[in-house]
Amino acid sequence: MTAAPGREQLIEVAYLAATALFILSLKWLGSPATARRGVRCGELGMLLAVGGTLLHHGIVDYKWIAAALALGVIIGTPLGRVQMTAVPQRTALSHAFGALCVTLVGTAEFYLRAPDVPRFMMAVLALEVILGSLTFTGSLMAAGKLQEILPQRPITYRGQNVVNLALLAVALGAAAYLVHRPGQTQLFPAVVGIPLLFGVLMIIPIGGADMPTVISLLNSYAGLAAAAMGFVLDSKLLIIAGALDGASGFILSVNMSKAMNRSFSNVLFGAFGQEQPAGASAQPERSGRSATPEEAATILAAANRVVIVPGYGMAVAQAQHKVRELYDALTKRGVEVKFGIHPVAGRMPGHMNVLLAEADIPYDKLLDMDEINGDLPQTDVALVIGANDVTNPAARNDASSPIYGMPILDVDRARTVMVIKRSMAAGFAGIANPLYYLDKTLMLFGDARSFVGAIVRELAGAQG
Ligand code: NDP
Repeated sequence: MTAAPGREQLIEVAYLAATALFILSLKWLGSPATARRGVRCGELGMLLAVGGTLLHHGIVDYKWIAAALALGVIIGTPLGRVQMTAVPQRTALSHAFGALCVTLVGTAEFYLRAPDVPRFMMAVLALEVILGSLTFTGSLMAAGKLQEILPQRPITYRGQNVVNLALLAVALGAAAYLVHRPGQTQLFPAVVGIPLLFGVLMIIPIGGADMPTVISLLNSYAGLAAAAMGFVLDSKLLIIAGALDGASGFILSVNMSKAMNRSFSNVLFGAFGQEQPAGASAQPERSGRSATPEEAATILAAANRVVIVPGYGMAVAQAQHKVRELYDALTKRGVEVKFGIHPVAGRMPGHMNVLLAEADIPYDKLLDMDEINGDLPQTDVALVIGANDVTNPAARNDASSPIYGMPILDVDRARTVMVIKRSMAAGFAGIANPLYYLDKTLMLFGDARSFVGAIVRELAGAQG
């Protein structure tokens, strides 16, 4: 008869299963078709990881753990219920909490072990608190910018990069000294405090249009900090989970940078959108040529090929189901309808894919920027629904534009452009969009859901 598995084995099995589930989760999250499965898999992995940890022999009292759990539930429940448009700032807040936790654990471990901290341990501990601290304040700043509590415009001053890099060098220098002499505990507050300040200073020069890259970079830092904590706490699971998080965040940042046609150093030190040329104000005075839902429906019904370009405004208006109705109404009439998806449309990676998948729009109709741009010159109507920055031709044509070089969806190359938005206001980058003043452009002023609904009714009326 074999003996029942001991507690240690149970923990090991739970950790092994959790690791496998995290890897599968990342794989499935790579496609909208399997993303839900990926989320459930990740949740199950986390449950096993936490459950396994709670079985640990080292835990002598569950009182504080229960209190922390209760606090987590109180803070986490409302955070889990935010509108989808607020998910990026919620994600930034999650990074901030995770990074704060890592920093506090690192600080406690240092003071518990000092002055006898072996060199390797001190090095990973320093890495843990430096990354944790700068990610904590950096993520709070990013959340503030995304929530528009803080100004989205880059705040820059002369010598900014030198000041920031000098601060980081001082923190790294103090950390290096501590690795050499861990007994110099009076240096430790500098290793925590300076990166806290650095996190704030790192984010203030970064403009709105670069926020996607910054969020994924902070995600990567939080993962790396957690991996470093895994070394300090001797937890293989934390090392693996942190490394997966760090690596996936890094890959996402690289992809986002590519999507914006920018290098990392340019994102971090270039202050995208810094110079606002005359005439590029957020609220232009001129108004574009406008049309009614009836006119828009007539033009769409007469088209052979339509490309719909959704953006942040579609998410705000929750217009995806009406967009589905429009898709159905047009395809029923024999119009070929495709969707052009820009990688940074909306406020989080994959935002548009998630919304359109929720409305059951076939995946094969959702085409990436590179795939759809070739089709746009042969397209009769490009219908832009609540997108702005990702369609701004200044990024392609105007070397003086702050977003010059950012790849866009070339909707201005379609025969007719129709733009649904509520006003002439600028998008997230705060830059005027010359698309709205082209002769071929018609502005459809209104809330995206109501306007698309009105077009659908017009199409149904004309049919009936
Ligand atoms: P933008 O933010 O450029 O523009 C959205 C437009 O939607 C606005 O001009 C607004 O105009 C309109 N809008 C808002 N509410 C409604 C509504 N209810 N009905 C109709 N229209 C509405 O969005 P894009 O998707 O084009 O670009 C995304 C921007 O966000 C980029 O600059 C990107 O860098 C940035 N970003 C992206 C992230 C990501 O991961 N995807 C993360 C963080 C930032 P009006 O007020 O006139 O209606």
